Amino acid sequence: MATISHSCGNDQVKDRVAAFVHQSLSKSAYILTYRGMIHLIPDQKIWLEIEVKKILPPPFQTQPSRPKLQRNREPNEKSRGGKSENVVCKFCGMVEHNKRTCKITNSIVEASTSQSPT
Ligand SMILES: [Zn+2]
Repeated sequence: MATISHSCGNDQVKDRVAAFVHQSLSKSAYILTYRGMIHLIPDQKIWLEIEVKKILPPPFQTQPSRPKLQRNREPNEKSRGGKSENVVCKFCGMVEHNKRTCKITNSIVEASTSQSPT
C-alpha cells in the first residue's frame, strides 16, 4: 500500500488507498498468517519405514525424431548417384585413374614447365 500511495502523488488518493486494497493484502493479515511456528522437516534418517511397493520410472521409449531424408532402398535397387565404379582416364583411356592423376599427363606438364622458364 505504501508503494501504491507513493506512486499516486495526490494527497487525496494517498489517504483512501487502504479503502481500495483487499484486507488479505494488508500487513496485519501477513502477520496473522505467519504468527504460528513453522516446523522444519526432520532428517530423512529419522523418517519411519513404510512398506509400500517401490515406485519405478515408466519404461523407456525412444521418442520420435526428425524423419529420414533418404529412404531405405531395396537390395536389387540401383543406388542413387555416388562414386562411379569404373574410372576411365580421359587422356589415355586407361582404367583406374583419371586425367588429373594420369602419369602421362603429369609427365608432359612437368616437361613443358621445365623447358620454358621465363
Ligand atoms: Zn591416363
